[in-house]
Amino acid sequence: TPALELRNVSKTYPPPTTVTALCDVDFTVQRGETVAITGASGAGKSTLLSILGTLERPSGGTVRIAGTDTSTMSDTQLSGVRAWHIGFVFQQFFLLDHLSVLENVATGLVYRGVATSIRREHATQALERVGLAGRMRHRPAQLSGGEQQRVAIARALVGRPAVLLADEPTGNLDTANGHEIVNLLATLRETDEGTTVVLITHNNDVAAAMERKIQLQDGRIVHDSGATG
Ligand code: ADP
Ligand code: ADP
Repeated sequence: TPALELRNVSKTYPPPTTVTALCDVDFTVQRGETVAITGASGAGKSTLLSILGTLERPSGGTVRIAGTDTSTMSDTQLSGVRAWHIGFVFQQFFLLDHLSVLENVATGLVYRGVATSIRREHATQALERVGLAGRMRHRPAQLSGGEQQRVAIARALVGRPAVLLADEPTGNLDTANGHEIVNLLATLRETDEGTTVVLITHNNDVAAAMERKIQLQDGRIVHDSGATG
C-alpha cells in the first residue's frame, strides 16, 4: 500500500474568501519516499500539508493515508489517523520547557493510551534513532537549536508513523544545523521502519536532499520529479 494517495484533490476555503488554494492535485507517495513540496508563497503548500495531515478536509477528491480513505471519516476517526499514522514537525520546535527530553518525546504517545513504561521505552528508541540518546535527561533549553529539532523529530517518530510531515523544518536553524536536520530526514528511510517524509521548504538545498520534488504554483502541480521507489 502506498503511504499517501491523492486523487483530484481540490480545496476552496469557505466564504468570505472563497480562495481556491488547491486544484486537481494528484499524486501517490510510496512508503520510504522522501518528498519536498516547493513553490512560491501562496502556492498552496501549507494547505496541501494540512490536507495530508487530515487537519483540513479537501473540498473535492480523495485522500488515502496508509491505504485508508479518509473522506468519509468523522473528526474523531481523523484524530485516530493522526495519532496512529502521522508525525508532525514544524519550523518551531514546540517542546515543553518543564519536561525532560525523554518526557517530551514520550508525549508523542499519549493519544495511543499506552503505559508510561512503554512510552519511555519507545521514547528512548526514538532518541537513539535521532542520535540523542545521550541527552535524555536534559531540558530543551540546555540543547542547541538543531538538537531541539531532533527532539521534535523523535517525538514525531516515537509512534512509528507511516508518514512524517514537516513544515519548513530547517527554517529556524543556521546552515550547519539545518544541514544536519535535512540529512537526518533524508536518511530516516534507511533505518528499519522506512519512514516516508514529506516536507515543505523554500530552500533549494533542502529540496535537493529529498529524492522527489513536487512544485506547486497557484494550487496546481506544475512539476513532479516522479516516484523513485
Ligand atoms: P503556501 O503555503 O504555499 O504559502 P497556502 O496554502 O498557505 O500557500 O495558501 C494558498 C492560498 O490559500 C493563498 O491564496 C492563501 O491566501 C489562501 N489561504 C490559506 N489559508 C486560508 C484560510 N484559512 N482561509 C482562506 N484562505 C486561505
Ligand atoms: P536559509 O537560511 O538559507 O533559508 P534554511 O534555514 O531553510 O536556510 O536551511 C538551513 C540551511 O541548511 C540552508 O542554508 C541549507 O543550505 C542547509 N542545508 C540543509 N541540509 C542540506 C543538505 N542536505 N545539503 C545542503 N545544504 C543543506
